[in-house]
Amino acid sequence: MGLNGGYSGFRILREGLSGNRGWRPAWRDPSPQPAYDFVIVGGGGHGLATAYYLASQFGEASVAVLEKGWIGGGNVGRNTTIIRSNYLLDGNQPFYEFSLKLWEGLEQDFNYNAMVSQRGVYNVYHSDAQRDAYRRRGNAMILHGADAELLDAAQLRAECPFLNFDNARLPVMGALVQRRGGTVRHDAVAWGYARGADRRGVDIIQNCEVTGFRIQNGRCTGVETSRGFIAARKVGCAVAGSSSRVMQAAGMRLPIESHVLQAFVSEGLKPIIPGVITYGGGHFYISQSDKGGLVFGGDIDMYNSYAQRGNLPVVEDVCEGGMTLMPMIGRARMVRMWGGIMDMSMDGSPIIDRTDIDWLYFNGGWCYGGFKATPASGWCFAHLLATDTPHETATAYRMDRFERGYMIDEKGSGAQPNQH
Ligand SMILES: Cc1cc2nc3c(=O)[nH]c(=O)nc-3n(C[C@H](O)[C@H](O)[C@H](O)COP(=O)(O)OP(=O)(O)OC[C@H]3O[C@@H](n4cnc5c(N)ncnc54)[C@H](O)[C@@H]3O)c2cc1C
Repeated sequence: MGLNGGYSGFRILREGLSGNRGWRPAWRDPSPQPAYDFVIVGGGGHGLATAYYLASQFGEASVAVLEKGWIGGGNVGRNTTIIRSNYLLDGNQPFYEFSLKLWEGLEQDFNYNAMVSQRGVYNVYHSDAQRDAYRRRGNAMILHGADAELLDAAQLRAECPFLNFDNARLPVMGALVQRRGGTVRHDAVAWGYARGADRRGVDIIQNCEVTGFRIQNGRCTGVETSRGFIAARKVGCAVAGSSSRVMQAAGMRLPIESHVLQAFVSEGLKPIIPGVITYGGGHFYISQSDKGGLVFGGDIDMYNSYAQRGNLPVVEDVCEGGMTLMPMIGRARMVRMWGGIMDMSMDGSPIIDRTDIDWLYFNGGWCYGGFKATPASGWCFAHLLATDTPHETATAYRMDRFERGYMIDEKGSGAQPNQH
């Protein structure tokens, strides 16, 4: 079956007038080969991006992505689509800024419309102390080459007049804004990377669950799967919320817990929200999709879980946050909600590293900020897999940092994964 050539306006018109019968799958559906140079476990954003960059940046031709379900069925298609690089710490900021720069050129790079929309991210502050902390974060961002702007209440009111300026328990005093932050259509990211990787020869194998690792003399030689054994020169795992379960099959216990995070979407409304807005007095963030739905979320469910659905107390907490920040949201009807499994690390920062088992590599611990990291994570993991050295922006994301005491605790929350 031929693959889709492209999506020109003329083609869309022609297909629309002829019952859309001419479209073909955007990537192949190959059977697994007995052996590859690189096997990537997990066909989420990070796994697909890794395969894409292995092929496009490092010239690797023998690559397979093994996905137990379908492309885009995990968190890459479940998140609230926010991208930003407003990080404070040295270990994080260069990596997330690298990622934002990759987002800025991504659509040209993989030739797919992912609807990258740099409409700005506003972190609202509610006290003098919080403003000072945001100022410090903004300065750190600027020193690292990112953009940041501190707005006072009058400036913020001019851009977001619907916030609760006049009657709030925690007064809205202003916001730290990153104008280059914004949103990206999440599932298009999976599809764009999948199509780009496929075109460069990567085998994307769906419905192929990795059930174990073949380890001989301290060296990983391949993976056991629901479709048989697949040999590999190197194996990279990028399975997000399933990290601890999958790596357990290699005998590893990770500094990671799994928790559910929920997302919510309202009915479609006229454009009202200029960018992404986060509440500084609790946990609530919101943006508006191009279709008009308000897309929002808050805290993770605080119980460890592998279920892709959440619990009602968090729904209430998220709605309370929304009502406090912008009471007008009480008039909107919620139409959809869902959950995804987050791989929460002990310090809130990710791991991109080798493991103690030769030729087995790990990528995970993204907490609930891993979507924005997708391009850089893929690039850095591909760099590590191809060269056996960490990319310059990911040198801090080592597995042994918890042993050595070099934590990257962006929020200063301590050793509690559910707090990050
Ligand atoms: C509700 C919600 C909102 C979020 N909002 C944001 C946000 O606004 N901004 C942001 O930056 N981040 C956000 N995140 C976090 C972000 O989505 C994740 O950190 C990121 O997507 C994780 O990486 P991934 O895309 O590779 O994960 P996934 O898409 O989950 O990919 C992992 C894949 O591994 C597969 N897998 C698991 N086990 C196996 C196995 N044994 N064999 C083969 N395959 C396997 C899974 O099926 C899955 O497809 C949010 C997450 C959720 C759930």
